[in-house]
Amino acid sequence: MDRESKQQRVKRLERLCHERGLPVTMQRRTVFEMILDREDHPTADQIYDQARKRIHTISRTTVYRILDTLVGLTLITKICHPGSAARFDPRTHQHDHLVCLHCETILDLKETRSSKVAWPDVSSYGFVIHDHHIHFRGLCANCIEKRGAEERTTQRPGGRHPRTPARATTRPIAKQKRRIPS
Ligand SMILES: [Zn+2]
Ligand SMILES: [Zn+2]
Repeated sequence: MDRESKQQRVKRLERLCHERGLPVTMQRRTVFEMILDREDHPTADQIYDQARKRIHTISRTTVYRILDTLVGLTLITKICHPGSAARFDPRTHQHDHLVCLHCETILDLKETRSSKVAWPDVSSYGFVIHDHHIHFRGLCANCIEKRGAEERTTQRPGGRHPRTPARATTRPIAKQKRRIPS
């Protein structure tokens, strides 16, 4: 599904809007194209900041509403993880994420082995599972490098040793201490 070109995906937006009687506004199309062009997983505010450079009159509320519509049309997905603003992802196929607990970067995990999780039988809950997402949380290569540099300059005794990038990016890591802004 995500192997479609950008043009095909914009066509899909138009088709889905027509099917539901929604107008294909320039604002909807622009916001969707902007998300397709991004490699990261932006927040609604980041998308709004980018959108108003292209469309000066667009409001934050409009951008939020467009994002909800795009999610409802299954053209993008909304990723939520505790303690962070919701992020938006144009890659709607099943994939897992690497989440940096320090800078909140979200990376798409290319390898698919982790996605092959057997869904539990939840019929007794009266629940129907639609999908699942796995977030492997840890530190990104940049943050590990920065932390290593800081530790080398301050030479704090007993400082935590940074993990190697290979381990940090492939294993879920237990909750790490975060500096809470006061
Ligand atoms: Zn990071
Ligand atoms: Zn993703």
